[in-house]
Parts: sequence; C-alpha cells; structure tokens
Amino acid sequence: MTEPSDKRPLTERLIAANEHRLSALVTATSDIIYSLSADWKVMRELDGRGFLHDALEPTENWQEINVYAGDQEMVTKAIQSAISEKTIFELEHRVNRVDGTVGWTFSRAVPILDEQGEILEWVGTASDITDRKLGEQALQKTIEEAEQQKRVYETITAGTPDLMYVFGLDYRFTYVNNALLTMWGKTWENAIGKSLLENGYEPWHAEMHEREIDQIIETKQSIRGEVSFPHAVLGTRVYDYILIPVLNERGEVEAVAGTTRDITERKQFEEKLAETSDELQAINEEMEATNEEQAASNEELAVANLELAAINEQLREARHKIEESEVALRLAVSAANFGTWHINSVTRAFTTDSRLKELFGYYPEEDLSIEQALAQVTDEYRDFVTTKLENAIYNNGDYDITYPVIGLHDQRLRWLRAIGNLKADPSGTFSAFTGVVMDITEQKQDEIRKNDFIGMVSHELKTPLTSMKGYIQMLMLKLRKLDDDFTNSSLEKTNLQIGKMTAMINGFLNVSRLESGKINIDLEPFDLSSLIKEAEEESLATIPSHNIIFAPVETTMVNADKDKIGQVINNLLSNAIKYSPAGSTINVACITVDGFAQFSVKDQGMGIKEDDIPKIFDRYYRVEAQHMFSISGFGIGLYLCSEIIKRHNGKIWAESEFGKGSTFNFALPTI
Ligand code: ADP
Repeated sequence: MTEPSDKRPLTERLIAANEHRLSALVTATSDIIYSLSADWKVMRELDGRGFLHDALEPTENWQEINVYAGDQEMVTKAIQSAISEKTIFELEHRVNRVDGTVGWTFSRAVPILDEQGEILEWVGTASDITDRKLGEQALQKTIEEAEQQKRVYETITAGTPDLMYVFGLDYRFTYVNNALLTMWGKTWENAIGKSLLENGYEPWHAEMHEREIDQIIETKQSIRGEVSFPHAVLGTRVYDYILIPVLNERGEVEAVAGTTRDITERKQFEEKLAETSDELQAINEEMEATNEEQAASNEELAVANLELAAINEQLREARHKIEESEVALRLAVSAANFGTWHINSVTRAFTTDSRLKELFGYYPEEDLSIEQALAQVTDEYRDFVTTKLENAIYNNGDYDITYPVIGLHDQRLRWLRAIGNLKADPSGTFSAFTGVVMDITEQKQDEIRKNDFIGMVSHELKTPLTSMKGYIQMLMLKLRKLDDDFTNSSLEKTNLQIGKMTAMINGFLNVSRLESGKINIDLEPFDLSSLIKEAEEESLATIPSHNIIFAPVETTMVNADKDKIGQVINNLLSNAIKYSPAGSTINVACITVDGFAQFSVKDQGMGIKEDDIPKIFDRYYRVEAQHMFSISGFGIGLYLCSEIIKRHNGKIWAESEFGKGSTFNFALPTI
C-alpha cells in the first residue's frame, strides 16, 4: 500500500512544513515568544508561560503591564534605538510577574523586513533570568561583606604582638600573621603550606602540636597549653597558646586556629600570675561561647545555601572567607582583650564594642560618641589625640598613638594604645576608619617606674662621685710637689675614669629627665663657631690618640641651648674617636646651607651597616657585632643627641659605608 499523495502545490506544502516546525519549536522552548507591530505600539501575541501576563489578542498597553515601572525609560530608549537602526533589540530588564512580584528577563527581538527594507513586524523571545539575577546580587553582597570583614581582620592581626595561625587537617599552616612571620624570619610565600617541622620547629614540639590537632579533630574541644623554648634573639621564653577547632556548617572540624602569647614577663611576677590565670579562664570561656555562636550561624548559612542552589559553589567560597576571618577576628579580639571601633568619615558615626566603652570608663549599655571619648583623654594629651585622629580620618594620616585616659565612672587612669586603618568603602561614598584600642597601663607604669628608678639611682650616685672628684683633685695638687711619678699618673688616671663615670651617669639622668618630660631647653642667641672653637681647644689638649682636623667656621648665629648643643658636639666627637682606630683622621666642619647651620663629624672607622643606620638613634640601641664587644657604651648618646636636636626643630642623620667610616651631621636653623 502506498500513502495517499498530497495534492497541494509544492510551495504551499513547504510553507506548511515550515509553520509546523516553527510551532514545534515554540512548544519545545521554555522561553516566552512574542510578536510586535513595526513601531512596538501593539503586542500582537504573547504566551506568558506562567511568568508574564499572556496577550492573547493585540494589546496596546503591554509595556505598562509587563515592564517594571523603574525600568520603563531604559526599555523605551532601547526600543527607539532598535527601531531607528533596524537592528536586533537585546536587553536585560525587570518585569512584573504574573504572581505580582518583580522578576528579571532577557528579551531579544528581531525585525522582519519587507522587500523595500522597511520593518513589517518584530518577533522576539524573553527568558526568565530572575534566579540568576538574584543569585548575582546575593553573591555581590556576600563578597562585599567578606571584604569588610577582611579589612577589620587585617587591621587587628597587623596590630597584635600575639602570634596567630591556622592549621589545615594535614597539620600544615594555612594562615600565619605578621608577628609570627617576623619571629620565624620568613615570608608568607615560604611559610604557608608548610608543616611545623618545615617551619623550623623542633621534632618534640612539632609532634606535640600534631597530637593536639588530632585530639581537637576528635573531641571538637579547644586546647590551651604553655610551652617554653628558645627564641632566636630573646633567649628562653615562655609562651601561652590556645588552639580551637574551626567548624564547618555540618559541625565538623575543618581547620584548627590558634593564638600564642609571650608571657615570659608576666611569669616573673607571682601575684600577676594569679590574675593572669583568671583572665585566661575568662578568655577560654569567651572562646567557647564564640564557638557556639559560630555553630549557630553555620546552621543559618546552611539553610540559605539550599535556597541558592544554583550559585552554591561560588557562594561557598566567599562564605568560607568570612568564616575564616571571623574566627581569626574573634580569636584576636578576645585573646588580646582589645576594644574595637569604627568611624564613618561622612556621618562620624562611632561604632564601638563594650570592651572599648569599658576602657573609657563607660557602661556597656551607654552610648559613646567620638567627642565623649576625647573628653576622657587627659588635658595634656587631648589636643594631640584630636589632631592625630582628624588627620587620620581626613588626610589619610598614620594612626598609632599612646595616650592616658581617666575613666568616666570608675575614674581610673589607663594608658591606651590605639591603632587604626583607613580604607575607602566599596560604595565609594565614604571612608571606613577601623581600629583597635589596647590597654597598656601595666607596661606604661612599669616603664615609668623603671625610668624613675634610673633617675633616682643616677642622682644618688652623683653626690659621692662629686666629692670623690673633689678629693682627688686636691690630692693631685698636693702630690704634684712630691715628684712621685707613679702616684701622680695613678691619680690622673683615676680622675679620668671618674670623669667617664660622671659622663655615663649624666647620660642616664638625661634619659630619665627626657622621658618624664623634665628636660628644659633654654634658648639664647649665640655663635656656633665659638662653641666649636671650645671643642677644638679641648680636644687638642686632651685627645692625643687621633688626628682631629677642624675646618675654619664662619660666624654662625643660632637661637639654641648652648650647653645642650655642646653636649651633642662632644657626643658625636667622642663616638668618632671611640669607633675609629688610633692614629686615624677625624674631620669636623660646619657650613651654612639654605638658612641651616650644618655641623658634621667624619671618621675613618668601622662604619655602620645600612640596616643599622636608622636604628642607632633609638634609646638603648647598640649595633650587635663581634667588633663591638670591646667597646663599652649603653646606646643612649645618640638618642639624647637626636632628642635635643628634635626639640630645636633641627635634623640629625648619619651617612656611612661599612668598614670605611661614618659621617654624623646635624642641622639647626640660623638667625
Ligand atoms: P654607645 O656608643 O654608648 O653604644 P650611642 O648612642 O652613642 O651609644 O651610639 C649607638 C650605636 O651607634 C653605637 O653602639 C655604635 O654601634 C653606633 N655608632 C655610633 N657612632 C658611631 C661611629 N662614629 N662609627 C660607627 N658606629 C657608631
């Protein structure tokens, strides 16, 4: 049997077959298909497929019905441009869905042209991209939150002296903070991904932590311990450490985070020890609470995950970052007992935690504004703190300052160190100034006590030394007549040694005065060249060991403290003598450049390595090297010189080539 043959003409049959295929295609696609008049005024047909409102017969107000009010203008513009260019219309925009909610569509329409090239009609498709759009928005929000957290976290980890780190389950470091990198002397690249052994831990020490990590994975409980081992520079130190599990949304351990604190100093005070263990106990409890909170937020996140199944992969990555930084952040904040704050540069809104309020003597439930916090700073420091803060918020200045406050309710004096970091907010409309405040009252009081002690001892030592000097000088006068060479030269040497001792004690006394703000600068106009002349005469008479050449100096008037500038000159000269071989040449000069008297002492001694040059003006700093063992000193001479010159609005600096010699300079404004 053969099929009855179709009697229609060929063209008609071809058209029918095409229409048939087209309608099959329309049925098969999930997209919405529509057709419009040439000027887009009339929607001829639209099958909304449950997403948009159907247009079963020609409709004129289709745009009002379907397009979301806020996007009307954008859609109209795109239509006008497609019509005038006779090109394909293509646009992502919001629509009013059948269920009354707002959704997103990707709409694309093609113009059908007649033989003259004029538009006959438009045929288009619209697909529902709501899920993707909502997903993208949620992802963007999560990423912004992650970045905000990261900024806070970076500020804190950079500011803490504690060691902070995170281990993966394979015992390898996945995070270490700056303090730990500095202690190891390593960079991030050559420390991350390495095991404890590879990062230089002794085998017993590495095994101990690995056992602890195993235990944490099994029990999900934190471990606190104490360990003592030698530090490369500081000798044997005692460390207190806390390791805590980082849980994923299923409540399984996915990493182990830890902080380690150097408690050597604290160990030395027995009563303090008792206090400390109470404190650590509290920290421990706080950490457990933190863990529970985290587990709760993990559960919430899991629910959100289900809803966003389509973009789950990307979201998980972003969320992971937040979790890591949150753990590290809470660890750091609770372990170090910091107060944290945040300032919006436009509104000046000051957001703080309750620990910060406590540090300013406020109750946790009270509001605290920037002005109220500044009011608690002591009178002497308030202007300084205000200037630094304003400068940091509005001029991107550094912010790391130490100042005393008196608590509002408890009237307690506390010394605080505040560190902050300014970043533009992702929105670009304001800057976010974030930071931490640490209570350093104990260190500060310790420092003050030490300083007072040094001052007292130096002062007490001076009295007997002065009378010794008097007696020796009397003896020298008397015995000179006896012509006893041995006695005379012994007395002379004793006198010289007493002179050195007096100079050392004066040095300590000056440091102590400087620290407690008791040093006075008495300005008077004088000629610097005459002061240099005095130094020249004195060195000719007393220093036979070196060849000291003074270049001629013109009259150079300065408004300065003559004694103190004399001290600086003597200090630089005696260092040049001390750090260069006997018989070598030392050049002293003073010239005027751009309104500044520039004094210099150039030696041909051991020189200073480039790394050490910026540090030699620090208090108690001495270069550590083999060749320094035989040269005595306390590292206070240059510190005093630089403090004196700073108080004259001058500048002091050193230039040196290691092994060849050094030049020390200072510059003072002339009058
Ligand atoms: P002190 O000499 O008592 O150690 P200073 O504060 O005067 O203390 O100097 C600090 C350090 O700077 C010294 O310990 C020394 O290492 C280095 N230093 C100072 N002057 C010179 C110099 N002229 N040449 C080489 N090194 C110097």
